Amino acid sequence: MMLHGIGASPGTAVGRLVLLGGIDVDMDGDPETAAPGSVEDSLARLTVAIATSREEIVAIAAAARDRIGAEHAAIVEAQLLVLDDPEWYGPVVDAIRAGATPTAAAWATSQEIADLLGSLEDPYLRERSADILDVGQRVVGHLTGSSRAEALSDLSGDVVIGAHELTPTDTLGLDPDVVRGIVTEVGARTSHAAILARQLGIPAVVGATGLLEFANNGNLVVVDGDAGVCTVNPEPDLVDRARADAASRAGRVVLRQTVTTSDGIPVLVYANASSPQDVERAVRWGADGIGLFRTEFFFMQSQSLPDEEAQAAYYGAAAEAAGGRPITFRTLDVGGDKPVPGLHVEAEENPFLGVRGVRLTLAHRRVFDDQLRALARTAARYANVSVMVPMVSGLEELDEVRAVLEEVAPAAAFRFGTMVEVPSVAVLAAEMAEEVDFLSVGTNDLTAYLLAADRGNKHLHYLYTEFHPAVLRVLHQILVGAGTTPVSVCGEVAGDPRSLPLLVGLGFRQLSVSGPLVPEIKARIQRLDSVGIGRIAESVLRARRHADVEAALEELSALVEPR
Ligand code: PEP
Ligand code: MG
Repeated sequence: MMLHGIGASPGTAVGRLVLLGGIDVDMDGDPETAAPGSVEDSLARLTVAIATSREEIVAIAAAARDRIGAEHAAIVEAQLLVLDDPEWYGPVVDAIRAGATPTAAAWATSQEIADLLGSLEDPYLRERSADILDVGQRVVGHLTGSSRAEALSDLSGDVVIGAHELTPTDTLGLDPDVVRGIVTEVGARTSHAAILARQLGIPAVVGATGLLEFANNGNLVVVDGDAGVCTVNPEPDLVDRARADAASRAGRVVLRQTVTTSDGIPVLVYANASSPQDVERAVRWGADGIGLFRTEFFFMQSQSLPDEEAQAAYYGAAAEAAGGRPITFRTLDVGGDKPVPGLHVEAEENPFLGVRGVRLTLAHRRVFDDQLRALARTAARYANVSVMVPMVSGLEELDEVRAVLEEVAPAAAFRFGTMVEVPSVAVLAAEMAEEVDFLSVGTNDLTAYLLAADRGNKHLHYLYTEFHPAVLRVLHQILVGAGTTPVSVCGEVAGDPRSLPLLVGLGFRQLSVSGPLVPEIKARIQRLDSVGIGRIAESVLRARRHADVEAALEELSALVEPR
């Protein structure tokens, strides 16, 4: 049986399915209500469950730090704060003293606090609501013997994890040496768990509706993270092909040199990074440079706003790890979905059309000034440093940023560029290109804004796609408008093997992708013939409907030699 979903992390996996139970705790099924113990017993069990949860969080954070970097570990560590918080612990104990079972007390308290936080206007506090539920679920898991983390730590052989949904913490707790694939019923390519799966290099399919209905624990499954298909009880020849594919990717040679298409056109493959550790790993995977260093994760993981000194040290460590390769830092891109401790962002009716990115940093000059000074210091110490600005909507904002730079760091020696994420800047690509050193297309947001479709909205997956004819025409218009000014693509589409022949065919010569994808993308570029794909890409620009684009993509994939 084939379950169709969305390819969220590329690659092929073969393994036995391990289904994880639901995230919602069903209190009707509370095993303890049948045999309640004394209050002392209950409190003792709660203490043990909390201690076990704490050990577990510390272990997951340590593994995450090793595998993919400190900023990801911080996602899990936030849960330690909840366990230590009297606002959570106090009401749980009170409820037990009032006669509730520890399970009911821990879950009801977590839900109440999460509901309360979820209803607040401050996006930072709203975000904490998910942490509280995650902690509640973890503690309840230990009280009832249904811990997800325990189930995940006890795996052996080649396993594919199946679930209705995985939290970022569940994903971070996966050991890529055992967990070969992931398949979930809900989720999006751009959801946090999907991004983490790509960082860990685990093939994943999300949105595979019917998984829990049609598949059982122990079923053999094949996960095709490129096509977005999960096959349950596959035919033997599919298993053989999938195993061969997985083996050939595992043995993929890291290509340290810049690669060219088969007819000699160089295409730079940079990596996206959020920490110095990310940069280090990207270099190991053979990245030609760092095309997008997201600085916001450093802000998000710090307890308060990092000052100029701390930022200079952090950016310096990233530039050092790049070892002279080009590195492009993006100035703070928060607001909307990404709250930062210590930076009060007013709640807005519609944050994705509100004060985010450069709009926010221009309004919080102390934060912006410190960051620009720290970046100028980094550029003074290291070669090949570039800085770009997110969410720019016109030349006026670039003028303002330049004026700030002139005031706070007049000697700044970095190349200066802009992200192209707001459609107005795509329309003005020629004018923008005349005034910057480079453009970098953020297709994640550009697609959302062009189609007026939120990238995380599960009802709009059918609409949110970079393969919409309008998005592809706009990508082409940006390239044409930019003329000789370099343009890179740093949105998630750049690392999608299916879109690669199309992007290179349209004329993009610089891509920035998730680090673990670099070897795969480089290998594929070497198999492209720029003339053949160019012809088909041109025909895509005449596409009127999504289906026309799909047909061209089929034609393109047939043209690219089989592995
Ligand atoms: C984008 O919008 O494509 C992008 C790269 O920025 P982010 O995903 O950080 O919003
Ligand atoms: Mg963006």
